[in-house]
Amino acid sequence: MSRLPDDPSVKRLPYEPPTIIAHKTGLANKFGGAPAGRRSLPRIEGVPVSELVERFGSPLFVFSEHTLRRTYREVHRAFALRYPKVQLAWSYKTNYLDAVCRVFHQEGAWAEVVSEVEYAMARRLGIPGSHILFNGPYKPEPALRVAIEEGAHIHIDHHEELYTIEKIAKELGRKVPVTLRINMDTGIQPRWDRFGFNYDNNEALTAIRRLHTGGHLVLEGLHAHIGTFMLDPQAYARGAAKLADLALAAKRDTGVAVKTIDLGGGLPSRATLHAQYGPGADTKPPVDDYAEAITGALLAAGFPQDELPTLLLESGRALVDEAGFMITRVAGHKRLANGTRAIIVDAGVNVLFTSFWYRHDVLPAVDRGGMLEETVVYGPLCMNIDVVRPSVLLPPLEAGDALVIRPVGAYNVTQAMQFIRLRPAIVMIGENKEIDLIRREEVLDDLKGPELLPDRLKP
Ligand SMILES: *Cc1c(COP(=O)(O)O)cnc(C)c1O
Repeated sequence: MSRLPDDPSVKRLPYEPPTIIAHKTGLANKFGGAPAGRRSLPRIEGVPVSELVERFGSPLFVFSEHTLRRTYREVHRAFALRYPKVQLAWSYKTNYLDAVCRVFHQEGAWAEVVSEVEYAMARRLGIPGSHILFNGPYKPEPALRVAIEEGAHIHIDHHEELYTIEKIAKELGRKVPVTLRINMDTGIQPRWDRFGFNYDNNEALTAIRRLHTGGHLVLEGLHAHIGTFMLDPQAYARGAAKLADLALAAKRDTGVAVKTIDLGGGLPSRATLHAQYGPGADTKPPVDDYAEAITGALLAAGFPQDELPTLLLESGRALVDEAGFMITRVAGHKRLANGTRAIIVDAGVNVLFTSFWYRHDVLPAVDRGGMLEETVVYGPLCMNIDVVRPSVLLPPLEAGDALVIRPVGAYNVTQAMQFIRLRPAIVMIGENKEIDLIRREEVLDDLKGPELLPDRLKP
C-alpha cells in the first residue's frame, strides 16, 4: 500500500525550484580573443573609481545625475509620445535622498508618498500638496487633515479611511476630491490584493457608489499598483482596461467623470534576478512595450474625447536603479573548504538589500589579468547571510582592490540599516562631472543619539 504524504516515516526534503543560469567561462576562443565576460569598470561617468575611493573612502554609494535625467526622459517620452496627458510622480520610498528627488522634480515629476514622513519630505523640498500623491495602507488622521488642507491627492486604501476623510470633509464643510486604490486580477502572481478595493468582485464599484451618495467626497481618480519588477507588459494592459472600465461605470452610475487614471509603478530595471537565465538588460521588455500596453488600453476604452483622463505613473525602480553604483574594496580572500574561491568586501547586505533578489553586476575597477574564476563575494558582516554574490567570475584580486556593484540605485539607500556597521557616504556625479557629497558617512552619534540611558545604568 502506498504511504500517505504526511506519514512521519516518509522523509521529505525541502523543494528547491531548479534554476538555470548562463555562465560565460572558459579559456580564450580559437581566434585568441579573451573569453566573453571579462569586464572591468575603471570609471563611473568619466570619474576614476580610484579617485572616488581616495576622496571619499569605501564603501561608497555613487549616483549619476546624467543617468537619472536620461532615464526619466526616456520613460516620460515613451508615454507622452502615445498619450496626450501624462504626469509622472516620483516614488519616494524607492530612493528619498534629497538630491535624487530634486533631480526628478526638476525634470517635472510630482511626488508619490506612502507615509506622513515621506509627505513631509516632499513638502520640505518645495513640492506643493497639489503635486503629491498620498498612497499607503495607513495614513493617521492628522496626516489626512494636513493633506486635505494642502490639496494633496489622497489615494484611499480601505473603508475606514474613506469614512475618516468623509468626517473631515464634513467638518470643513467642503467637498474633498479623492482617488480610490483598486486591486484586480491582471493574470500575474502573486496577486497584490491587499491594497485598495477589488475590481473583480465589484467591491470597487460599490465603494464608488458609497462615496458618491455620502455627498462629501468626489471621485477624482482611480489607482492601481499591480506589483513590482513586472516583466509582462500585458499585465498593465489588463490593469489599464479594468481601471478604464471602472471609470466609465462610475460615470454611468454617478455622472462624475474620473479625471486621473494611475497605473502605479512596477516597471523593471535592467537588474538581473537570481532566477533569471540571462542578463536582465537583455531580457527586460523595453519601456515602449509598457507604454504601448497602457496607453493602447486607455485609448481603446471609449472615453469621450473631452473626458480622457490624465495618465499618472509612479515608476520607482526603473527610474533610479541604473543610476546607482556601490564602490567596495576587497578586505581579504580565502579558499573555502570545498575549494571555492571567496573574497570579503567592505559593503554588505545591510546596505545592499537587493542582493537577496538581484544577481548584481560585480566588476573590478582594474583587471590586472589572470584566470577568471568563480568567486563568492561576502560582505563584512559577521552573519552567514551576508553574501553579495553567491558566484561571479572575477580575476585575481588583492586586498585593497576596488570593485563596482551595480545597479543599486533602487531601494538600497532607503532600506539600508546600521546593522553591525554604520552607513556609508553617498556622492552624486553631476552632468559636468561635479562630484558632490550628498550624504556624509555616518558617525556613532547618528546611531546612538536617540537613545537614553537611565541614571542607574550609567557607567
Ligand atoms: C513602491 C510603490 C511604487 C514604486 O514601485 P516600483 O516597483 O519601484 O516602480 C509606486 N506606487 C506605489 C503605490 C508604491 O507602493
